[in-house]
Amino acid sequence: MEYHIYHMFPKLLNLYGDHGNIITLEYFARQLGLNPVLHEVDDVNDIDWDNVDFMLIGGGSDREQSLVTEQLGLIKDKIKDEMEKGLPILAVCGGYQFLGNYYQGVNGEKMPGLGILDFYTVGQTKKRMIGNAIVQTESFGELIGFVNHAGETFHDLSPLGVATSGWGNNLQTKVEGIFYKNMIGTYLHGPLLPKNPALTLFFIKCFMDKKGLKYDDSSLDLTFENDAREMMKQRILDDSVNKDDFY
Ligand code: GLN
Repeated sequence: MEYHIYHMFPKLLNLYGDHGNIITLEYFARQLGLNPVLHEVDDVNDIDWDNVDFMLIGGGSDREQSLVTEQLGLIKDKIKDEMEKGLPILAVCGGYQFLGNYYQGVNGEKMPGLGILDFYTVGQTKKRMIGNAIVQTESFGELIGFVNHAGETFHDLSPLGVATSGWGNNLQTKVEGIFYKNMIGTYLHGPLLPKNPALTLFFIKCFMDKKGLKYDDSSLDLTFENDAREMMKQRILDDSVNKDDFY
């Protein structure tokens, strides 16, 4: 069965290898018997909404964010509808910020968000939140990632998890990301999925459940992924320079 993966504005929203998420999703989809079809969207009119199975909105600098704001604004109602219906979405950093009501840049200029969830982000120059991170989640165990942002996000929604190492949504809290229906907004930058197969498999399972396909990941060999995770985790925990910076 075809599995339609949508990567939104890959030329502009692809910081720190967010595309690695796509490669990983394609790889595991194939392992589970699906036929992944990648759509790289530069024009929102090209989206076939009846066949969107996964959407990635990656990160971008403030400049790149401002360039896609208008286009994304055209489809905000559609994204909200699909999200409410359970579309699996991964929104990373700048992409995460877009889901809220607005992003205020460091110079005070306000970029409208999609307003599909009630939160906001404000850029600041006191301290850039940068470095590797470990986020403890209820649904996916420990997530290993990397963050780099100036924007502080504030919300009372259900978070993705709590950063046990590294930065969370803002300078004051370790709470990280948003988890709503099958949508994950997070500051953990790409390639996030290669390091976190639980997240990759969650997105694919959502699709298979929706299509009534039997999901069975027992044949997958995750030795390589788990070794990489463990190595990365140890590196983060051993990195005293990082720790000093974080706390
Ligand atoms: N411009 C945003 C910030 O710095 C997002 C950056 C990003 O996507 N890495 O907060």
